[in-house]
Amino acid sequence: MAVCHYHQDRPGIGICMRCRVVICAACSTRVDGVNHCHACLKALGQRPEKPRAGQFPPALAAAFCLALTGLIFFVFAFAVQGSFAP
Ligand SMILES: [Zn+2]
Ligand SMILES: [Zn+2]
Repeated sequence: MAVCHYHQDRPGIGICMRCRVVICAACSTRVDGVNHCHACLKALGQRPEKPRAGQFPPALAAAFCLALTGLIFFVFAFAVQGSFAP
């Protein structure tokens, strides 16, 4: 039975994807969906997973959506008016 590389009294639950040592639940930290030990986490200089911010600012996306809807409505209204004109 594999034990944690850092805690000889704890059972290992996974392997660090960077240095491949067996780590326990307390030592395991998920970064980008993969396990990392304390040492590698420190080496990476990254914090644990956090919700990724959208590439597009929500306000800009809403404005773009509104503008597009307005444009479609304008074009549609113009096309209907044109087709029914004598
Ligand atoms: Zn590691
Ligand atoms: Zn441990």
